[in-house]
Amino acid sequence: MYIIIISYIIIFGIILGSFYNVVGLRVPANQSIITPPSHCPSCGRRLTILDLVPVFSYIFLGGKCRTCHSKISPIYPIIEAATGFLFLISFLRATSIEEMLCGWLLVSLLMIVLVSDLEYMLIPDKILMFFLPLFAAFRILYHTDPWWDALAGMAAGFALLALIALISRGGMGGGDVKLFAVMGLLVGMKLVILGFFLSTFFGAVIGIGGMLLGFIKRRQPVPFVPFIVLGMLTSFFFGDQLIAFYLNLIF
Ligand SMILES: [Zn+2]
Repeated sequence: MYIIIISYIIIFGIILGSFYNVVGLRVPANQSIITPPSHCPSCGRRLTILDLVPVFSYIFLGGKCRTCHSKISPIYPIIEAATGFLFLISFLRATSIEEMLCGWLLVSLLMIVLVSDLEYMLIPDKILMFFLPLFAAFRILYHTDPWWDALAGMAAGFALLALIALISRGGMGGGDVKLFAVMGLLVGMKLVILGFFLSTFFGAVIGIGGMLLGFIKRRQPVPFVPFIVLGMLTSFFFGDQLIAFYLNLIF
């Protein structure tokens, strides 16, 4: 029974992940997410059911279009697989149905903005404005203690990032500021602050490592959302343990 539940959750996540690819790619370009049907960006051929099985089509077709053999971006199958995997982690780490849904909401927002950031280096306002009322409604239905924590989270996410954006003068974009504010509403003050510090920590470590190893040039613009995904999800799934571990170290 358990293995069936787990398989269904992974498949559900993978199918949604495939939809998140479409949303993250089309919304910033002001295209409809329903029409036209998916097509190859190089030759325009309409994709059939054989091309559209998440993850498996990519592997089966060797990452190439069946007609024109142009390369398909590995971002798509990675987003699909990651969404399935992270939906499963949300289920395994949650102690209640609300906590699991909270994880699924957070993962959904992050996967969509990750696609947009990798493709266009931007976080679309339309996506944030869609998730904002959704998160607010979720927090009103399943509120945490104390009741003001969601609002404090939103304020903390906004304030921390706005400060960094001011100090770094454009190193951190307005999209990042708004993204953290929206996520703060969902996860509360403690986890959004920890998520912010972890994101910058991962960004710094990977950034410095990349420069020393020559992958990244100084001043080269690097999409920041991958680090936000790493930082926020670490905070959401392991934040309480990390904080307890840290407090044990100093007291
Ligand atoms: Zn093609």
